[in-house]
Amino acid sequence: MKILKTQTLRGPNYWSIRRKKLVIMRLDLEDLAEKPSNEIPGFYEGLVKILPSLVEHYCSPGYRGGFLERVQQGTYMGHIIEHIALELQELVGMPVGFGRTRETSTPGVYNVVFEYVEEQAGRYAGRAAVRMCQAIVETGFYSKVELEQDLADLRDLAAHSSLGPSTETIVKEAETRQIPWTLLSARAMVQFGYGIYQKRIQATLSQNSGILAVELACDKEGTKTILRDSGIPVPKGTVIQYLDELEGAIKEVGGYPIVIKPLDGNHGRGITIDINSWELAEEAYDLASTASKSRTVIVERYYKGSDHRILIVNGKLIAVAERVPAHVIGDGRSTIEELIEETNKDPNRGEGHANILTKIVVDRTVENILERQGYNISSVPNQGEMVYLRATANLSTGGIAIDRTDEVHPENVWLAERVAKIIGLDIAGIDVVTPDITKPLREVDGVIVEVNAAPGFRMHVAPSRGLPRNVAAPVIDMLFPPGTPCRIPIIAITGTNGKTTTTRLTAHIYRQTGKVVGYTTTDGIYLGEHLVEKGDNTGPYSAGVILRDPTVEIAVLESARGGILRSGLAFDQCDVGIVLNVAADHLGLGDIDTIEQMAKVKSVVAEVVAPNGYAVLNADDPLVAPMAERVKGKVAYFSMMPNNPIIEAHVRRGGIAAVYENGYLSILEGEWTLRIEEALNVPMTMGGMAPFMIANALAACVGAFVQGVDIELIRQGVRTFVPSADQTPGRMNLFNLGAHHALIDYAHNPAGYEAVSGFVKNWPGEKIGVVGGPGDRRDDDLITLGKLSAQMFDQILIKEDDDTRGRERGEVANLIVQGIVSENPNTPYKIILNEVEALEKGLDKISEGGLVVIFPDSVSRSISLIEKRQVK
Ligand code: ATP
Ligand code: ATP
Ligand code: MG
Ligand code: MG
Repeated sequence: MKILKTQTLRGPNYWSIRRKKLVIMRLDLEDLAEKPSNEIPGFYEGLVKILPSLVEHYCSPGYRGGFLERVQQGTYMGHIIEHIALELQELVGMPVGFGRTRETSTPGVYNVVFEYVEEQAGRYAGRAAVRMCQAIVETGFYSKVELEQDLADLRDLAAHSSLGPSTETIVKEAETRQIPWTLLSARAMVQFGYGIYQKRIQATLSQNSGILAVELACDKEGTKTILRDSGIPVPKGTVIQYLDELEGAIKEVGGYPIVIKPLDGNHGRGITIDINSWELAEEAYDLASTASKSRTVIVERYYKGSDHRILIVNGKLIAVAERVPAHVIGDGRSTIEELIEETNKDPNRGEGHANILTKIVVDRTVENILERQGYNISSVPNQGEMVYLRATANLSTGGIAIDRTDEVHPENVWLAERVAKIIGLDIAGIDVVTPDITKPLREVDGVIVEVNAAPGFRMHVAPSRGLPRNVAAPVIDMLFPPGTPCRIPIIAITGTNGKTTTTRLTAHIYRQTGKVVGYTTTDGIYLGEHLVEKGDNTGPYSAGVILRDPTVEIAVLESARGGILRSGLAFDQCDVGIVLNVAADHLGLGDIDTIEQMAKVKSVVAEVVAPNGYAVLNADDPLVAPMAERVKGKVAYFSMMPNNPIIEAHVRRGGIAAVYENGYLSILEGEWTLRIEEALNVPMTMGGMAPFMIANALAACVGAFVQGVDIELIRQGVRTFVPSADQTPGRMNLFNLGAHHALIDYAHNPAGYEAVSGFVKNWPGEKIGVVGGPGDRRDDDLITLGKLSAQMFDQILIKEDDDTRGRERGEVANLIVQGIVSENPNTPYKIILNEVEALEKGLDKISEGGLVVIFPDSVSRSISLIEKRQVK
């Protein structure tokens, strides 16, 4: 077996609209292509032995054990690998379920498709599955040690690529509300929503967290001073910079017990609490001073009580957790070291912030604390005795959390909410030391120790004891108060031909509304009037540029086949999905071999239309119109024929359509006809002579109409959109060269040729064609191009693309000639492989009043050649 290619999809795709995260492994079974599992001795047994949990896979039989039954009866390796890749991910706690395996048109080569949670882990699971099958085929087993290693690697990959725990809870909440999110490429920032409606967070900092508030919170002394000045109970304390100030400071705070900590610390680093002697104070001073960037140290009175974290979001108390420092409880037999080891076995404990709790690490601090309690790590504490391993309760040093949200005294609620307001933080974690959170702080000598910006959510979402709290919901409520939008309208356009033209016209029409339109096409990414980036931009990367841009109010996205197949759409739903046509082009690429498969690729755009959005479908195209069945939103059609039966039935039911009637581009809405404009006045239709351009214009018009764009503005749009060589290079650019004309068009498939022929046939004079075709198309398609050329031209010059795309030089030309001769053996033709020479020749030969049509490989080169002649 050999993996030929691995792709990762991240959006709605050919295989599934709902399952966006899929790995596709193109797999050559080689010698196993002819060998189903039942013909491989010992395979079933070996597989069940190493992965007994596969019994849970129902597969096509639809019951427990169904998949294993299929293995026993005989199924192919691709299918088995799909199930193993899923199971490996399941085994490390990543829930996945969707998989498909299909043979390609190359015998023995399969596409194995399966879901993933984390991209790298998913790809790894695929490779591991292949390795496992190979081993079982060859040796009859897969070793347990290797499986353990695979699972450990998978866990690692998952942990490394996953978001932090707090970010993840917020992202999950956004997902339940169908708010789209993207991880930005810098600083682990997450964007929610699109365009102008986007909001950002970074861990639990939000874009509303003011820089002054965050910096104040990071300054413990400043925070205390501001709070004290507002009458809020804070620890009595003072700040010193030299050891000889220590004695005075201890007196100032009222003597022992005291706490010493760095002025600018966090995560409990450099803190010593409950200091009762000068000797300890000196030691603690050194520790804190070294931990402080500014060598500045806080000396505070020690307050008795336990540590509480109060979370405030948007002015409201959301959760309270009591935090207990890392500790072990004796059993009368085990040493402290053994007890720690036992505690760390808890699957909830991971490294750093990766899990709900963190593993306890024995270090100098732990040894010190034990020493102060009269122990070392080999001591055996009595049954039930609690031995502290840390003085502070940070989860990151092994502490645990107990939810106390329902117990907090109302006066403390009021106080904490006031504290967050005074500091100015939208999301604040307030550290309170009090013996009893159910009583007002003042009554029990409780204090507010500090206020944290970007507080962790872990302790509230997954407390060790008590109710988990959904603390992410109020964050999302704050960013997107009920009723505020998070999405901008997305207009997605696909089809075999006319995408760029329709995208540009649609963007132009929407621009008439005065809004900022971001659009992407095969020539570049545009924001309003400005070009952001040149080049083929019809995939998810360019859509991402638009959707992330904070100025964009409407997105118009050319969504080509390549991007959909490579990585899926960049958006999970759109408001208008336009499917122009499906014709034979690009067949045989990316395992899309038939036109029906191609229709399924394009149909993704129609199927992601939101329930209140519109799919705009070509009623004249038998491969497009039936897509209506799978649309979840509403449908609007366009057609060149007002009496198209689909249109008639649709309109009778009150539907919306755009049609070409009596020379007009019109919208039909129920019984009414709204005339937009006469084709004569729509420059892109070349005075009505280019029918396919009328079709593109109809699609764009109805795509704007269903979004409520005023008909007056649509009219203004189609009247002012000029398909000049500057605006839409290569799309029906007609040049007046005095005695004759030249037309440049980028048609490169049979449907495109036919479309242009609709215009050429209307031309009164002589017609010379300068034709060619891309080398990566099938022989038949190139022959068809020849036939179509013979139908529309009086003379033909055949040239080739600069890049032959894998064919011998001259091969494409010969195929085209074959087509010409079979259609009309009397057509004069000549092969001139060089495109420039061929074009020059055509322009030299054409008679007065005639038309030279070139289907160029390089649009810009041909335009400049023709423009040179214009100047003369
Ligand atoms: P974190 O980053 O976890 O908030 P930190 O390094 O910022 O920790 P503090 O919050 O100032 O440090 O202190 C850590 C813990 O030490 C407090 O939560 C509290 O349990 C204890 N503590 C700090 N100061 C005092 C004090 N004056 N009296 C009693 N306990 C204190
Ligand atoms: P690409 O696949 O190169 O991105 P596209 O779908 O974006 O193409 P356009 O660039 O708008 O299409 O048009 C390319 C050519 O396709 C046009 O110059 C014309 O020859 C042909 N074409 C445009 N619209 C249609 C249509 N509705 N039906 C058939 N052919 C069309
Ligand atoms: Mg703190
Ligand atoms: Mg295009």
